[in-house]
Amino acid sequence: MTQLDETRSSAADVPGDVLSSFDPATGDVVGTHPVHTAAEVEAALTRARAASGWWAGLGFEGRAEVLDQWRGVIARRTAQLVDVVHRETGKPHGDAQLEVALAIDHLAWVSKHAQKTLGRSRVSPGLLMANQAASVEYLPLGVVGVIGPWNYPVFTPMGSIAYALGAGNTVIFKPSELTPGVGTWLADSLREVSPDHDLLQVVTGYGDTGAALCRAGVDKIAFTGSTATGKRVMAACAERLTPVVIEAGGKDAMLVDHDADIAAAADAAAWGAFSNAGQTCTGIERVYVHEQVADAFLEALTRRARDVHAGSDAEAQYGPMTMPSQLDVVRRHVGDALERGGRALVGGAEAVGDRFVQPTVLVDVPEDSEAVCEETFGPTVTVRRVRSMDEAVELANAGRYGLGSSVFSAERGEELARRLRTGMTSVNAVIAFAAVPGLPFGGVGDSGFGRIHGPDGLREFTFAKAVTRTRFKPPMNLTSFERTPQQDTTVATMLLALHGRATQLPKLPRRPLRALRTRRSRGGER
Ligand code: NAD
Repeated sequence: MTQLDETRSSAADVPGDVLSSFDPATGDVVGTHPVHTAAEVEAALTRARAASGWWAGLGFEGRAEVLDQWRGVIARRTAQLVDVVHRETGKPHGDAQLEVALAIDHLAWVSKHAQKTLGRSRVSPGLLMANQAASVEYLPLGVVGVIGPWNYPVFTPMGSIAYALGAGNTVIFKPSELTPGVGTWLADSLREVSPDHDLLQVVTGYGDTGAALCRAGVDKIAFTGSTATGKRVMAACAERLTPVVIEAGGKDAMLVDHDADIAAAADAAAWGAFSNAGQTCTGIERVYVHEQVADAFLEALTRRARDVHAGSDAEAQYGPMTMPSQLDVVRRHVGDALERGGRALVGGAEAVGDRFVQPTVLVDVPEDSEAVCEETFGPTVTVRRVRSMDEAVELANAGRYGLGSSVFSAERGEELARRLRTGMTSVNAVIAFAAVPGLPFGGVGDSGFGRIHGPDGLREFTFAKAVTRTRFKPPMNLTSFERTPQQDTTVATMLLALHGRATQLPKLPRRPLRALRTRRSRGGER
């Protein structure tokens, strides 16, 4: 480790006035940024509040126009942004470009769908309140704080920033201390489109700056990062009852059934496990493969893994570990797996270098080892043979994380997907769910809660506003002291007529409710 690396890995513990970002492949300084104090975060909040009224008042169409212009700026300058991402994370330019493309896709989706998702819609008032016009709409919270990680420094925070802005909030973004240049680039590019309004401000710094944002009094925090930090974020937010969405770590499993396309499964497992040096929250870290096809799968996966290498040369498929301290985690997990009877079919202990980790495929690793239970966040994967897909589902669901998963199966893909306790599953693919803007993204268990992306992601940054309006004087005014005993009797009669038979329904398992309703609507059995 160079002196720079040492500074970098310990920097998070020693906040100063400035913060430097480094190229993880070389240790060279990429840029220097301020470490924003709590007072500066509060000042940013004051500015964001001042802008939020104007932004909310623009309405869906006005906001879509600004977001579309921003999308255009990013698209025209993609090469510039890609270069900053490449230098601060070490990932190849092609991978950086892919994440920018996906982020732009989300911005486009938000512009197009915000009004339909959040705008006012009528709701049936029901029989008892038939004289009311009822409606619901989703209003902006005000100012949203976004705290982001370094592994996808454009795509991941954009999953919160675009949706928070589209819903009518202004945003204060605290990028990772490893990628402050990327965060600053994003805010600067939106300022070009809207120079007079603080729609998206960046506060740079370490964990203390993030904690200050949690305590500042923003209207919501959207946090993406590790589970451990997520708990600290929640604790800080609790002080002011600031709501949070937590997008935390994962330990995603892939299930390979006996009838799966083995070549496709092996290729997807390799990409899911090794791309971005395994530094993907929804990366594949465990595979459960049916014993009938395990040999063929392992043969294909190891062949694929031997073709892939980490480096900073033009042929390298992925780059260095972005955060040097993560090398210790990978080393520990691989070491634990090997000490406890595991075998490395590709890579192993010697694959973990000073900056780069070569692909590692582990087998015979105990299910209670760190390599299986904890997030490794490196280019390693464990593969275990199972007797049945029931066993695979049980093992996949045994962990504390529940972010994403993948199933390869010709016949039972969607059925198995539904049985996996993860927020998202791709069938006969990996990580495809993250690239579909209309789908919710998020996990369960230690992977967090709340959703970004899609309609759920837009609503996450709003509050539901219910409104009723009296349309005419009701024949019975039930919400008045003028209500008479005779009206109470009428309500009792209605209640019985409408709901009384509900308790006399036949037993559900023999006659599913849906079938019963269909029969009733056709005027059949009553
Ligand atoms: P991290 O938890 O170390 O840091 C995330 C962010 O939190 C950084 O900006 C950091 O400065 C800030 N922070 C640190 N301490 C804080 C505190 N006390 N209060 C407020 N903010 C604080 O995570 P990381 O190393 O940047 O990212 C890697 C992790 O992120 C992995 O666990 C990965 O799985 C996860 N991740 C999850 C998703 C997802 O969508 N679920 C996406 C990408 C990454």
